[in-house]
Amino acid sequence: MDKREHWFNEGAPLFRQALEQLGLADRLPSADAYYACPCCLIAYPLEAIVEQVLTIEHVPPDALGGKGMLLTCKRCNNDAGRHFDAHAIKRAAVHNFLLGRRTNRPVRAEFLADGIPVRGEVQSSGAGWLMQGVPRQNDPAVADAHERALRAASERGDAPQFTFTITERFSPEQADVSWIRSAYLAAFAALGWRYILRPALDPIRRLLKSDSPTEMPLIIGFNAETDSSARAVMIVEEPENLRSVQVMIGHYSVFLPDPWGTSTLEELAESLAGSRDAEGKVTYTLSGLTAPWPTKPLYLLDKAITQHGTP
Ligand SMILES: [Zn+2]
Repeated sequence: MDKREHWFNEGAPLFRQALEQLGLADRLPSADAYYACPCCLIAYPLEAIVEQVLTIEHVPPDALGGKGMLLTCKRCNNDAGRHFDAHAIKRAAVHNFLLGRRTNRPVRAEFLADGIPVRGEVQSSGAGWLMQGVPRQNDPAVADAHERALRAASERGDAPQFTFTITERFSPEQADVSWIRSAYLAAFAALGWRYILRPALDPIRRLLKSDSPTEMPLIIGFNAETDSSARAVMIVEEPENLRSVQVMIGHYSVFLPDPWGTSTLEELAESLAGSRDAEGKVTYTLSGLTAPWPTKPLYLLDKAITQHGTP
């Protein structure tokens, strides 16, 4: 069986059961199987698999080292790619370039030879740089003058005065939303419907629909020292003011509301702000339960409730 169909068939009864437990069963039209996209919560029948409306989503995005983890609807997947992931991918390339690490895509830059500018791209292999002018972005006369300045300097036997500036543009807020979205999807894949259907998660879904995420609570942290392949989902129990689901994906950690419905995004953002030092660095010691990193939907909370009744 196709992996998507398998994920649909496994998730659909758990979705219905979660709605029943929340008293929302009448939201589904009939006894047929439905699977909701975890981002927009639109419920789809099995035909959506055949028609490629529900597709496999990579968490984090493919270009940031992600793997196929769960089903989302194509529209949410495409919108996120355009609005958020493109910014996260550009930011990662700039960071990696500046840290001398390998960049998996070119970074826009402007080169100056004896003060004459050429627009182009730089890439880093981790061991060296490759710089390249992009002809269609330059006035040919200026590009020729730049070439001549470089040639003249090499004929004279001295180095031209050569500098470059990174000109790649991205929105840090939109890049952050990309990581928050990945964290939300990983938390869903690990814990399931009962977790994301809590009202405390509504603000995340609103954020994913917004075009200007400027009023986002600060629930994301960055740690340059973490390995970019590190992954973890933790249900944080201590300290009490950080009770949450913490999702770590490489350098980024996102704090989402806890599964018991005691914390909100605003409260978490406030607790995190309270533990920042003068340089803005957050230091904390967390303890709680570690969930396995999902490589497919696990629905741990939904399944625990099925086995043991309502907690
Ligand atoms: Zn959707």
